[in-house]
Amino acid sequence: MKKIVFSLMLCGLFGVAKSANPIATDVFTADPAPLVYKNRLYAFVGHDTAHVGANTYQMPDWLVYSTKDMATWTSHGPRLAVTDFKWAAKAANAAHCIERNGKFYWYISIIHRSDANSKGGVGIGVAVADNPLGPYKDALGKALITNEMTTDQTHSWDDLDPAVFIDDNNQAYMFWGNGSCKWVKLKSNMIELDGPITAFKPKNFTEAPWIYKRKGLYYLIYAANFPETIEYCTSTSIEGPWTYRGVIQDPTPNSTTTHPGVVDFKGKTYFFYHHGALPTGGSYRRAVCVETLNFNADGSIQKVVLTQTGPKRIKKKFLLF
Ligand code: CA
Repeated sequence: MKKIVFSLMLCGLFGVAKSANPIATDVFTADPAPLVYKNRLYAFVGHDTAHVGANTYQMPDWLVYSTKDMATWTSHGPRLAVTDFKWAAKAANAAHCIERNGKFYWYISIIHRSDANSKGGVGIGVAVADNPLGPYKDALGKALITNEMTTDQTHSWDDLDPAVFIDDNNQAYMFWGNGSCKWVKLKSNMIELDGPITAFKPKNFTEAPWIYKRKGLYYLIYAANFPETIEYCTSTSIEGPWTYRGVIQDPTPNSTTTHPGVVDFKGKTYFFYHHGALPTGGSYRRAVCVETLNFNADGSIQKVVLTQTGPKRIKKKFLLF
């Protein structure tokens, strides 16, 4: 009943028949990563299951949603879980799924068990499937990145939040990090590193880097400060140097974190994030939302305006291609 009342309240505020934000209201979702494949936009998200009033994350698995029109979302439920990674202990943290040559590689950050490969802390793994909804299996049977492989930060969760980008020359890169931003080249098989790891500190960087390319310019978009804003840098090279360009998003309602995911779909650019503003929501019970992202003529990004209506529904005539 609460959900219905809340939806009606939003409809009343905005004078619309349906609210598209958040994309799900029956579960709590976080850390969105969009993927466009075959006329659909998929949102790969984390799953907050912490009880009301809890002050730690409880995240057992990852969920997938999809849409064709940016207004109506289909829930595909959990598609990957902590238990799919034998070397992992807990915490289905931020993740990113990307397609290459018809295979889907879902990079996840998770707390490693203490074993021969790692003493623990957050590591990065990768699961692979033949279609975006899976079934996915651990591609390596071990971590791709362990906490020990980066040492520029001393805390055990500095290897959170993978984001993978394949450049126009087919070179794949993975960016990630908390406290510092790290990047490494990936081999074309997408499950092996292809060179050394570089760590650097974009201005105000906290975590959650995301790479986006537009008109030959690379955008490094990330969560900054705490409570988190979303800020960004640009560069003519994905390997930097990066120029700081400003704030895209202020802290989101009722959440200490937010998390960027940017993608082009049917001629527009969309920005995914999360807030904690659902009834009984909060920093550990978050909700994924999406807005249209707009650019200025000089390539700078306009500040995101949070809405409860979400992006405009894509017209039927544009849904076929
Ligand atoms: Ca580390």
